[in-house]
Amino acid sequence: MESSDELFARALRRIPGGVNSPVRAFRSVGGSPFFVKSAKGATLLTADGRELIDFVCTWGPAIHGHNHPRIRKAIAEALEHGTSFGTPNPYEVRMAELIHEMVPSVEKVRMCNSGTEATMSAVRLARGFTKRDKIIKFSGCYHGHSDSLLIKAGSGALTHGHPDSAGIPAAFARETVVLPFNDPAALDAAFKANAGMVAAVIVEPYPANVGLILPEAGFLGHLRDACKANGALLIFDEVMTGFRVARGGVQEVCGVVPDLTALGKIIGGGLPVGAFGGRAEIMDLIAPLGPVYQAGTLSGNPLAMAAGIAALELLDECRPYAALDALGRKIRNALAGACNAKGIPAQVPQTGSMFSIFFTGTPVRDYAGALTGDAKVFARFFHGCLDAGIYLPPSAYETAFISTAHEGAAIDRACEVMETVIKEL
Ligand SMILES: *Cc1c(COP(=O)(O)O)cnc(C)c1O
Repeated sequence: MESSDELFARALRRIPGGVNSPVRAFRSVGGSPFFVKSAKGATLLTADGRELIDFVCTWGPAIHGHNHPRIRKAIAEALEHGTSFGTPNPYEVRMAELIHEMVPSVEKVRMCNSGTEATMSAVRLARGFTKRDKIIKFSGCYHGHSDSLLIKAGSGALTHGHPDSAGIPAAFARETVVLPFNDPAALDAAFKANAGMVAAVIVEPYPANVGLILPEAGFLGHLRDACKANGALLIFDEVMTGFRVARGGVQEVCGVVPDLTALGKIIGGGLPVGAFGGRAEIMDLIAPLGPVYQAGTLSGNPLAMAAGIAALELLDECRPYAALDALGRKIRNALAGACNAKGIPAQVPQTGSMFSIFFTGTPVRDYAGALTGDAKVFARFFHGCLDAGIYLPPSAYETAFISTAHEGAAIDRACEVMETVIKEL
């Protein structure tokens, strides 16, 4: 087996930056990425023979841990029957019913192949439904990499210093109004300045691609009311939070009902899947019923549906949310306690199985706040953890994830390592 360094040298010759998604490249924390040859439960096994406890969880999907036997079995069974038919298949129907059961605001749903497709299509649908062009998004929120949405975006775009990507025509960018999160007055002003022109407000209800930021009391409700009053649709991008913070996502937790929801990550059980859905009246505008075009050669793919159905059914059987939150609180307490003891200013936002750490003294309530975090300290913290076998997201602007497989030894080991690393920062 080639080492990570050997593989990366080969990759750099034929793949831009050696990676197929930028944040994997370790650019913001320094060093070069490790290659993984297998993963199981909470653990990654690298090409160099190291075992790492994984808090990236393939950037969210692996809520049951890696390579769960139940999901593997579902894929294997589906594989017996073929990999793609280009016709409707029974799995798609079960998937649509399951999603509606878990996220009731999704009366109808269309499957696609990534979170990017889901948000892009939801925005097109909102524009088609309202016959308006402008959308409102919040700085630091990442909604995938389509043109309308890659403006003041989080995730890898921010990590690599390009929150506004090159290659997006100014004319497109003008249709996207960008506001600070947690600022209801800014929203009211934007609706006023763009009266009758806003098709939709799209939001990560818990922004999790700039580190983790939680909404202040009433903010999401204010979005709902303001959209209604101004004839705009409210789109929740729950690609990250869907099935993660609760069975029904943030909308279940906060009781705010969006018109449309974008889903992804967990819904594919580790295979490439996205979905968007919402009120039937709006969804019925999509082709073949209506004039809003959206399609996909591999959409509703039987292997991906089988994996996703198994992942969702498993959630319903295990009801893991209270246990995951207990693990999350354990990590938060360890991190916050160690920083406090050492006198390092830090914020450790956590909800359920999601957490992040900002090395800053001021509470982080928006994108500007996230940028006050000390990225150099984060890089030292990241490498200290990695050297001791704990893999965190390789960026100060990403959220870490916990799976059910972390219960027990993995979480205890992680807390111990993080405490030691912080002590030595
Ligand atoms: C990951 C993510 C996306 C993009 O999904 P991809 O499958 O990477 O295209 C969109 N929105 C949010 C909130 C995400 O976390």
